[in-house]
Amino acid sequence: MEIYLDNSATTKPIDEAINVVVYVMAQEYGNPSSLHRKGWKAEQVMTNSKSQLANALSCDKNEIIFTSGATEANNLAIIGLCMANVRRGKRIVTTTVEHPSVMEALAILEKQGFTIVKLPPNEDKEYLPIDFFNAVDEDTILVCAMYVNNETGLILPIEDIAKAVKRKNPKTAVFVDAVQGFMKLPIKLKNSSIDLMSVSGHKVYAPKGIGALYIKRGVRILPQIYGGGQQNGIRPGTEPLPLIAGFGEAVEVQSSEMARMSQHYKSLKEYFLEQVKGNPNIKINSKIGWADYIISIAISGIRSEIMLHFLEQFEIYVSSGSACAKGKHSYVLSSLGISKEIADETLRISFGRDTTKQMIDELIIRLNEGIATLAKKR
Ligand code: PMP
Repeated sequence: MEIYLDNSATTKPIDEAINVVVYVMAQEYGNPSSLHRKGWKAEQVMTNSKSQLANALSCDKNEIIFTSGATEANNLAIIGLCMANVRRGKRIVTTTVEHPSVMEALAILEKQGFTIVKLPPNEDKEYLPIDFFNAVDEDTILVCAMYVNNETGLILPIEDIAKAVKRKNPKTAVFVDAVQGFMKLPIKLKNSSIDLMSVSGHKVYAPKGIGALYIKRGVRILPQIYGGGQQNGIRPGTEPLPLIAGFGEAVEVQSSEMARMSQHYKSLKEYFLEQVKGNPNIKINSKIGWADYIISIAISGIRSEIMLHFLEQFEIYVSSGSACAKGKHSYVLSSLGISKEIADETLRISFGRDTTKQMIDELIIRLNEGIATLAKKR
């Protein structure tokens, strides 16, 4: 039995999405920009996918731009917004736990003279709206705060953060990287204070290479690539219709499952915590109240890579910290007060819609086996 517990790194596409991808590749191969019927039908496919996403995000379909993934969406949101508003200010407020695709985009802006203020979590390892209220000033043109942290499951109160930001400075734009919360936790962009939000297909059982950026009507950003004017010129290039259609389909399938899945993840997390309770070798990094589908644990005395490869022998797949931070010391864990030693022993277990209690039983058996045999070798 394959036990895939790395769903925060990526997910296995669902059949419904795969079928739609294949169908669109074979049948609806027109270019949405073409004026003939084949083009018009392709455009219909794209509009339909936009509606599926807009329903899930509760926004208007015209507020959605497709990108190659969330890395691109994050870059486009951050650099695009700042380039369009540079005359109003050069200050950006963010957190110390953002994804590298946010951090690196901000680093480029810093080199161009922007000031980046990175807020750490408070002593209770959480972010409060007041922290953002205090950090924003009249020169702040952008606030970037992620919804769910990919390494730990830490949840940020994004809507309240956005409201606090607007109370301090109504002109400050708020961008949310919602990749790890999308289709798992509630998102309601209608009447929201959030201006920009990124999501990714491959985290929600759609193919890799597709993502989307929500841009609230009236919010101006500059394109980061130039071309034929597709997607209002904000993200030109012939749209990857099969991927777009697969994304829309995956999202629609999950829309009706969200309540059930949230219960599913909650009971899996409770079960896991119950099973490892009292085990002196397994420390839980994640806190109560964080996302139920991501658990960060540390195995005492065993480096994460060693345990990861041990589990791999039994077709159990987990992550060491996060896949994106491969080999590097995690700035996220360290800003959450987790020591370098513990960070080196940290594994991320992330559940998906197919995860079962039996899989967790098997994981725990193998973890304990690994603790016994690998520790001996030390
Ligand atoms: N943001 C977060 C929080 C993520 O977890 C990821 C994926 N690891 C990304 C952005 C980048 O998404 P993509 O793989 O679609 O570029």
